[in-house]
Amino acid sequence: MSSTTLARSASTEEVVAELRRRSSFMFVSHVKPDGDTLGAGLALGLALKGIGKRVGYFQQDAVPRNLRFLADSDLCSREIPKDLPADTLWVFGDMSDTSRAGEYLPAIDRVNVLNIDHHLGNSRFGALNYVLETEASTGTCVMHLLRALEVPITPDIATALLTTIMTDTGAFMHTNTTASVLKLSAELMEHGADKPLITEEIFANKRFAAITILGLALSKAKVENDGRYCYTYVDQAMLDACGADGEDTEEIVQHLRSVEGVEAAALFKDYDGAVRVSLRSSGKINVMQAAASLGGGGHFMAAGLTFDGDLQGAFAGVQSALVAQGL
Ligand code: AMP
Ligand code: MN
Ligand code: MN
Repeated sequence: MSSTTLARSASTEEVVAELRRRSSFMFVSHVKPDGDTLGAGLALGLALKGIGKRVGYFQQDAVPRNLRFLADSDLCSREIPKDLPADTLWVFGDMSDTSRAGEYLPAIDRVNVLNIDHHLGNSRFGALNYVLETEASTGTCVMHLLRALEVPITPDIATALLTTIMTDTGAFMHTNTTASVLKLSAELMEHGADKPLITEEIFANKRFAAITILGLALSKAKVENDGRYCYTYVDQAMLDACGADGEDTEEIVQHLRSVEGVEAAALFKDYDGAVRVSLRSSGKINVMQAAASLGGGGHFMAAGLTFDGDLQGAFAGVQSALVAQGL
């Protein structure tokens, strides 16, 4: 493929024609799935099921406890159906590269790949790449497809799509909460999206272990670079001490970012056999570039990476990557 073809995003019409043409679909979420990758896949899956298509969901890791309210989330697993038709379209949602789908993904012929995403620097790995970098969530990309498909938006679909928006805007707090995102959200509520349910399940239904690990991680937080950088870590011993697991650590990094004067925040997660890092920016530092320089990716304001090395190495490596971005 030429670089122009690689850079080009497929039009809504091209993607819709392909969705109509195929009869079987497998939706793929990224590892450690969040409300965007899951909600976007489930919403499009529910809509296609509604027009008689066969739909399945491949996902390496379990659905997090706080997303099990999503309709059909119980169908997500790492099992591949034995009788899957050869011309099944594999729809990847919310990932800049197939490597984000994990190690259990079978080999898939590129002609059967649709890539729907909103990350910067998406590797355009599909035959069709519906990559809209200015969209707030992958779910809002799906919303454009559903409109063009002219399928009914049921309350379950609307709830899944509003979940993608509320996840990726931090419940309408991040700068990607544009007027059009708010209009779209209002429209989804008119279609029956259950906003109180989403708020309760995702943001206000924490296990006690989640607040104790938050407290422990915050008690170890450090501020450096003249107050512009705030970071902390969570390791297995800390999780064990609180009876917590990785799902309980989701909100820690946003507390670091909310400190006055902080321009970049980092949470280092040293468990499950790797050091994974969550980065957040207050608007000046491009944390996606910092993450990308260490093999990760994401968005300007929120990015992540898996560090190749130990925790101390990660502290040093991430700090210099942030300094290189102007910290
Ligand atoms: P998180 O800190 O896990 O909430 O991730 C923030 C953003 O960074 C999301 O858009 C993720 O998709 C992206 N991201 C996280 N980890 C990685 C990684 N290892 N490689 C590429 N992108 C990542
Ligand atoms: Mn995601
Ligand atoms: Mn997303």
